[in-house]
Amino acid sequence: MPEFRFNVLTQEWVIIATERAKRPMAFAVTQPQAELPPLDPTCPFCPGNEHMTSLEVARTPGNRGIWQTRVIKNKFPALSEDIQPDQDGDFFQTHINGFGIHEVIIDSPYHNRRITDLPFCDIETVLATYLARYRAVERDPRVRHIIIFKNNGEKAGSSLAHPHSQLIATPLISGQIQTRLEVTKRYLCEHSRCLMCDMLERERSQNLRVIYENEHFISFLPYAALSSFHTWIFPKTHHAHFGSMDDAQIPDLANILYYVLKSQEKLLNHPDFNFVIRSAPTDCPDHAYHWYMSIIPRLSKTAGFEIGSNIYINSSLPEHNALELRNVIDTLKQLG
Ligand SMILES: [Zn+2]
Ligand SMILES: [Zn+2]
Repeated sequence: MPEFRFNVLTQEWVIIATERAKRPMAFAVTQPQAELPPLDPTCPFCPGNEHMTSLEVARTPGNRGIWQTRVIKNKFPALSEDIQPDQDGDFFQTHINGFGIHEVIIDSPYHNRRITDLPFCDIETVLATYLARYRAVERDPRVRHIIIFKNNGEKAGSSLAHPHSQLIATPLISGQIQTRLEVTKRYLCEHSRCLMCDMLERERSQNLRVIYENEHFISFLPYAALSSFHTWIFPKTHHAHFGSMDDAQIPDLANILYYVLKSQEKLLNHPDFNFVIRSAPTDCPDHAYHWYMSIIPRLSKTAGFEIGSNIYINSSLPEHNALELRNVIDTLKQLG
């Protein structure tokens, strides 16, 4: 029987309608990255083609004489760094000069290796690069919010095959994050506790939607997941900002990210996906929010009903999806 579920953090209603379910194997599939060459002479992100990209911001040295990660300015930025974010206009037509920072993080020198194809030490280097860039960009007083994300595959919005991630910093806080902040602040006022810390405890005790856990992180499907296999990774240590994460926890984050993505990859046959690091605005006090990651396989498209109502239809039960992913992770761990 279909049911409405309420996502307390995002304040969104979801219809869980399993009658509409498709078997996982029926979900859309794209070309596996392994079928691409390890190096593409026409790819601007491949080693040897550094001159084809715009200004380099940072690089992590690798062995074999080439870099391991490279951070560059986006060649076609959505926003510009060279202006002041002055606000102007009136009630009907407010505008802020399009200040922002838009960087591209090239995950590795390999054209054909997804993040899950990299050894753990290289996944850690990608995450360490995210942290270093977050902390550097956070220091700009014009920046109020930083989003780090990955678009993997065409359905996820990626225009280049070479695996990469992006950072966008804005001078304003979107309505989406504003809503989440209001919810977490209200909960804090009423309960003197962090909503997300309590949510983690609830998920651990119910143990219906948890798919993986290590010392510092836990991963589960939200009770009211907006789409099939939509997964969250939460740090167990409370911090509002991604940049406050202890560097010593990077190996655990790499470990859990690998198992979440790899299990989705195995079960859903290499789906396109997005992941997003959801951090608090830079001026948010540490007790008022709890950063986390969303991982979203792109299995269905947003249609008219979602646009018209902002109510999503999830064709599968999060508890069933969690069980399927847990089983795949058990197999992966047995294989070592
Ligand atoms: Zn490439
Ligand atoms: Zn918390």
